[in-house]
Amino acid sequence: MIDPDASDAERKMQFLFQLRQRGVTNTRVLNAMEAIDRGPFVTGVFSQRAYDDTPLPIACGQTISQPSVVGLMTQALDVQPKNKVLEVGTGSGYQAAILAKLARRVYTVDRHRSLVRAARDIFEDMGLHTITAITGDGSFGLPEQAPFDRIIVTAAAEDPPGPLLAQLAIGGIMVLPVGQSDHVQSLIKVTRREDGFDYDEILPVRFVPLVEGLGKD
Ligand code: SAH
Repeated sequence: MIDPDASDAERKMQFLFQLRQRGVTNTRVLNAMEAIDRGPFVTGVFSQRAYDDTPLPIACGQTISQPSVVGLMTQALDVQPKNKVLEVGTGSGYQAAILAKLARRVYTVDRHRSLVRAARDIFEDMGLHTITAITGDGSFGLPEQAPFDRIIVTAAAEDPPGPLLAQLAIGGIMVLPVGQSDHVQSLIKVTRREDGFDYDEILPVRFVPLVEGLGKD
């Protein structure tokens, strides 16, 4: 655990060291993760642990992902500066904020209205004006903004949702956890070719499930 009383510079150094140790080596991704402070995305009793490499509870019974998993997913997504990116599962907004440092435009969707509202406030405070956060069932994607160069799903489905595959541009990449929610899932990378899709397994992960419909809050 990183000492919460350490200086900002020290905490940042340890945070980046942990990421590198776990395989996040891409300089653009590390720079983006250095630029986005995880602190504001973690509230309440867990805020002291914001710089630890661990998932933490957020509102609506959801979790903010482990930083090294965020880093590895972002690295696999290979985001380019001109890309339009869709994230399904805004949660705290942390992953979307990092994507905003790497892409031209980010759309992020969550089924919980209160999470979307809280994330919007943080994006505003951080001056991240290229993110649009929307309440909705992200398994249907955002047809009006498709196609997307990159799609990242941060909740686990049994299979890649059809509408998301359909909204991926040719040459586009989607990264998502697949598998049953109470088992270990696989993080996979789907690349859309002219004539079909390539699937690569990246690493075992554990995410909250992708749930149908809107949340009550
Ligand atoms: N990327 C987040 C962590 C996401 S946790 C972060 O950086 O903090 C997974 C999120 O997926 C939860 O907030 C949950 O509400 C959301 N989710 C689950 N099913 C969904 C669906 N069908 N559409 C949109 N969001 C969904």
